[in-house]
Amino acid sequence: MKPHDFREYGHQFVDWIADFMENIESYPVLSQVQPGEILSRLPASPPDKPETIDRIFKDFKDIILPGITHWQHPSFFAYFPANGSVPSLLAEMLTSALGAQCMVWQTSPAAAELEERVMEWLRKMLKLPEDFAGVIQDTASTATLCALLCAREKITGFGVNESGFGGDKVINRLVVYASKEAHSSIEKGAKIAGFGKSGVRLIEVDADFAMLPEKLEEAIVEDQKAGNVPCCVVAATGTTSSLALDPLKKIGEICRKYDLWFHVDAAMAGSAAILKEKRHIIDGVELADSFVFNPHKWLFTNFDCSAFFCRSPKHLIRTFSINPEYLKTDVDMKVKNYRDWGIQLGRRFRALKLWFVIRAYGVEGLQGKIGNHIKLAAEFARWIEEDGRFEVMAPVSLNLVCFRYNPKVQNLPETRLEELNKQLLDDLNGSGKLFLTHTRLNGKFTLRLCIGQTNTSRAHVQNAWEAIRNSSGSFL
Ligand SMILES: *Cc1c(COP(=O)(O)O)cnc(C)c1O
Repeated sequence: MKPHDFREYGHQFVDWIADFMENIESYPVLSQVQPGEILSRLPASPPDKPETIDRIFKDFKDIILPGITHWQHPSFFAYFPANGSVPSLLAEMLTSALGAQCMVWQTSPAAAELEERVMEWLRKMLKLPEDFAGVIQDTASTATLCALLCAREKITGFGVNESGFGGDKVINRLVVYASKEAHSSIEKGAKIAGFGKSGVRLIEVDADFAMLPEKLEEAIVEDQKAGNVPCCVVAATGTTSSLALDPLKKIGEICRKYDLWFHVDAAMAGSAAILKEKRHIIDGVELADSFVFNPHKWLFTNFDCSAFFCRSPKHLIRTFSINPEYLKTDVDMKVKNYRDWGIQLGRRFRALKLWFVIRAYGVEGLQGKIGNHIKLAAEFARWIEEDGRFEVMAPVSLNLVCFRYNPKVQNLPETRLEELNKQLLDDLNGSGKLFLTHTRLNGKFTLRLCIGQTNTSRAHVQNAWEAIRNSSGSFL
């Protein structure tokens, strides 16, 4: 296919995408297909002969689209958002067209230097410490794994990188600490980095689901007594279940006292720190060694784009650098080669979409949108509280409301409440009009409504509340 084919189909596709954006509310938010349904419509073997784009595009619409859950639907309230925006999408088109690899400076100087600059912009927007340097990773899971690897190499004097765990010197059990509410990526990262699941301590939380620093210190002391080596603490600014905020300052002080690597996982909530009135959520980050948040969750930048900051890039680079002859260049001493700042060699040009987004909205535009989501969540929580048939299950600090159906007058047993709330969730999601997910808080089945899609307005939240009330109305 030639550029003129691209021009022809490109125009057609752009028109289709713009229509899709305008009509997105006519699609069910949660795909309503059954397991295997899409697979059964796909030929078992690839075509021997070329097929036309028209034919492939038709199948995209007929077969693929019904199996898509619409994360860009303004009534997507599930999990956490993975929002996007027009400027981000436009930049992604250019990124795909360039098809550049951003492994070293020479493989695309502009990519390296733009990445350096936009990460400085983000650092300023969040008022992170000035000595933090940033790099874009694919996901927070990868960023946290990088932090764990840095922590491991710091405490072993780069010994595991050099000799492996069973190398020259015996390394006692290294331990990672996070709260019981921490994201699964920490345990996964700990497994991959060689700490093992049994090298992870999950610390008790308080009534608001935030890590108890005194329990953390107890666990560290206990490990030291047992001959283990405390290595790293991962605190959450915004846990996944309820967006609980671990006390960073206290945790950071403990990390300083025991000389542990301190990583802050603010994957979703971090974006809110661009608001003056919410910057306090990361107070204490000045004590951290590394920090991650995802512009691909709540900063209108298409997946994937995870912002990872590290206080000591030298240490990060020493952990990850490789230097084979075929990648050496004359300017290596003068430039940033981001292949040495993480796991991948080949890297997408992700800085471009972030640059487009920050410039097209301006910092104030981004603050306005995020502030509005937070305001809508507070309003939704108020509706819940004022209705005697529902209860709020966790503090609402930002854009997530955890709640459940529980009519006070009826005094229903827990098992019945679980049944009813499951039914409510299934009814709502089955309607295709909105999509919520659930969690368990203190063992209680809890619904989560997270407001973060780019185009979610008050009307969408109002409609959600009405749907919730109507669906639960049939329980009476
Ligand atoms: C979403 C989330 C993650 C995982 O993010 P990915 O970018 O999908 O790896 C980790 N931690 C927290 C707190 C999250 O909200």
